[in-house]
Amino acid sequence: MSSIPKVIQELTDLLSALPGIGKKSAQRICFYLMDRPRDEIVRYAKALIDLKDKITHCPVCHFITEETPCPICRDPKRDDSVLCIVEDSLDVFAIEKTAAFHGKYHVLGGLISPLDGVGPEDLSIDLLVKRLDTVKEVILAINPSIEGDTTAHYLHKILSRYKNVKMTTLARGIPVGGDLEFADEATLTKALEGRSEMNK
Ligand SMILES: [Zn+2]
Repeated sequence: MSSIPKVIQELTDLLSALPGIGKKSAQRICFYLMDRPRDEIVRYAKALIDLKDKITHCPVCHFITEETPCPICRDPKRDDSVLCIVEDSLDVFAIEKTAAFHGKYHVLGGLISPLDGVGPEDLSIDLLVKRLDTVKEVILAINPSIEGDTTAHYLHKILSRYKNVKMTTLARGIPVGGDLEFADEATLTKALEGRSEMNK
């Protein structure tokens, strides 16, 4: 009986560990790649290594960047006193596309999810706390979901210690369970403009 070659097994295992890729899809991708020209495979390999070597997280806001601090943190025209808190860097790109926000961001790098073993210490909350002394408003722009609400609740507790900080949340233009990064620009702009203050 012949078994799957080790090389194929290794790549399939790696691919199936990716978000949204099951074992069947991983095998399909693996066999697809096997038939691609060598120079194309080298491009994949190089793109992956570049991703690791050239992209990092901004030490201030945790946004992905090629230079530190990131261009948004360095921009003197942006308002330091308003922070928009988002789950991941894709949300920053989505909000930037609206051109409706002129403050700065804080990227959490995930949401609190006890079921997946993600606690507050796994997010960039320590970096956030370092910024709060000079901030006047924090906008919670977190996707409405169980994990989003748990995270918002946790942040609410921390932020309530800072009397100088007003907390607002996006207007409910974003559908429940919907993803901020997929909301259209008009919806996102309205959600930002219609944000409401949260009670502390
Ligand atoms: Zn930054």
